[in-house]
Amino acid sequence: MSMATMTRYHPDQFLLNDYVAGSLPGAVALAIAVHLDYCPQCRAEVGQLSRLGGELFGGLDPVPVAEDAFARLLQRLDDIPPAAAAGAVPARGHGASQGLPRALRTLVPAGVDQLDWQRSGRGVRTSRLRFGDPRREVALYQIRAGAHAIEHGHGGNEITVVLNGAFSDHEGCYRAGDFVLRGSADVHRPVAAPDADCLCLGVLEAPVRLGGLIGRIANPFLRLHPR
Ligand SMILES: [Zn+2]
Repeated sequence: MSMATMTRYHPDQFLLNDYVAGSLPGAVALAIAVHLDYCPQCRAEVGQLSRLGGELFGGLDPVPVAEDAFARLLQRLDDIPPAAAAGAVPARGHGASQGLPRALRTLVPAGVDQLDWQRSGRGVRTSRLRFGDPRREVALYQIRAGAHAIEHGHGGNEITVVLNGAFSDHEGCYRAGDFVLRGSADVHRPVAAPDADCLCLGVLEAPVRLGGLIGRIANPFLRLHPR
């Protein structure tokens, strides 16, 4: 994967501030850490914020705030038992997760192909990651080239970070590294670009709400599935 520097959609200033302060829920911090892997602009911003924080709180905390926040996040990720059963290291070994952003490698140690995937619509599959946040679902989504996910809204915030490929909806086109935050009022119907499968990280705070007739039937039964 090329860590493209063309990222156009970024976490806002408040999120970056809270990230640096270490006050974000882990799953949200994870999404930002993944974005930072692609985005030199936000990395610079985070560096600046943490230097500023260091100056403001210099006497109290000699460790740059952001580095500490990131280290704590990685430590937390290390504490989570890998999804793959211990001892069942696949033949491809630990190199399999190399194409993924650093912050995701512990969660997907054997690579994307070895995850448990569930079909969720035509050309769309989902794999819930064992992140350990009881209030948020952390998952990878893959939309086959040219396929579309079902139209949906959300009962809460949904963060999507594109890892590979691209998708678009009525508001724009999102490429590798783009960070898209949708609130409960937004309804969208993501379509993958025609030339490549699109792989995304999703962090959901509430179950999706499907549109149309299917939604009216299915919505009461949709639940979050944190792992
Ligand atoms: Zn950015």
